[in-house]
Amino acid sequence: MILKKRYKIRLTKFGKLFFSGIFGLTVLILGLAFINHQRVFYEKDENKNYIVEINYPKVKSKQLLAYTDDYIKNKKKEFKEEISMEEPLNSSKYEFKADYKVTDNNNNILGLHLNISEYTGGAHHVRYDKSYYYNKESDEIVSIKDFLEKDTSLDKLANLSYYYVMKYSDDNNLNFDKEGVKEGLSFNLNNFEHFNFIDDGLEFIFPPYQIAYYAAGEIKIVIPYDELNGIIKNKYLKYSKKNNIKQDNNRNLKEFSNKKLIAFTFDDGPSYIGTNKLLDNLDKYNARVTFFVLGSRVENYKDTLTKAYKMGNTIGNHTYSHSNLLKLDNYSVMDEIKKTNETIKNITGSETIYLRPPYGNINSDIKNISNMYTILWDLDTEDWKNKDKDRIAGYIVSNAHDGAIVLLHDLYETSVDGALLAMERLEKEGYAFVTIDEMIKIKDIQLDINKNYYQIK
Ligand code: ZN
Repeated sequence: MILKKRYKIRLTKFGKLFFSGIFGLTVLILGLAFINHQRVFYEKDENKNYIVEINYPKVKSKQLLAYTDDYIKNKKKEFKEEISMEEPLNSSKYEFKADYKVTDNNNNILGLHLNISEYTGGAHHVRYDKSYYYNKESDEIVSIKDFLEKDTSLDKLANLSYYYVMKYSDDNNLNFDKEGVKEGLSFNLNNFEHFNFIDDGLEFIFPPYQIAYYAAGEIKIVIPYDELNGIIKNKYLKYSKKNNIKQDNNRNLKEFSNKKLIAFTFDDGPSYIGTNKLLDNLDKYNARVTFFVLGSRVENYKDTLTKAYKMGNTIGNHTYSHSNLLKLDNYSVMDEIKKTNETIKNITGSETIYLRPPYGNINSDIKNISNMYTILWDLDTEDWKNKDKDRIAGYIVSNAHDGAIVLLHDLYETSVDGALLAMERLEKEGYAFVTIDEMIKIKDIQLDINKNYYQIK
């Protein structure tokens, strides 16, 4: 009994200790929760001189909050210092307003966009925009730099942005000054601070004054994901649905592995007689070819282009109006190339990646702007000049070699006839007739945007 009692007392003592411990811990936890809950989300501070209104960001990442709170705190301090030296206003008050927006629509990336609007006298409010990005997966703060494929991608991004901003200006009759836009979009990471991954593409927001006059306000552009290939890391790109039209490209490329390969390419089309005659005869030689089309012609030959694509021929870009790209400014170069790509894509549903610049005229700037692979030629038939099918065929046959790219024009029936004649003869010499796409796959070539391809070796 006594032992039991003692034991009971000891237990009680221990229990007291234990429960007071638990109690203390609970108070501490509740207290912490309370303090945490006490984080000010909204601050209003108004007196006869000024008004401060801050909507503090509410997000889960403590890192992100530390950044944003710090930024707001510093800006508020600067504001108060600035107005402390000013006389009170008569009819209004000095103002400091901070608000934010959260975007959360792509692959674990949370965007927090701060917007501070200040009035410290003068004609209008001053605005400060700041964006932060948080990678939920890696628990890290990231910036545009982390999304770029390579360091040089920024140049390409700047060029693309320039094109879309000027397009925005044209579409809305805003008359932006080209030089001003270029400066606002110069190759500096800070110029591309505000962005969002939305459904249609990568959206960039340029605050007032960055690229144009103040009244133009905030400028938003959207660059389709398809165009950011090689610029933004692939895992962040959400491609649009491709291939509305099914390409019956069931060729088993293995059957060509022990053949000599030749790529027939046709520029300046499509045309009604030439292109269709060619398409109707390709099966005879188990041939597929490549068309470098003009955007301005494509609209009028939709059926022909659709047929060519469906059969498994490759469609490439030969600019919109057969321009000498070396003579155009960056914006016009992009216009020539993009308009053509868009027109082709509207018809075939597929992205074009090959560019053949008219006259073979290209330089590294144009390559950067276009973000496409440059395919030139090594066998020039001069078909447009001689318009002689036997001469054309003779030239191709006597100069043929494995990996050759032949230049022809499907505007002329004689060129098509010459090509078919050459195929008939070359087939007996062990040649197979493949598209640029197929040749690259068979030869397992890793294409490089900076190179010119005269042949595929
Ligand atoms: Zn041409």
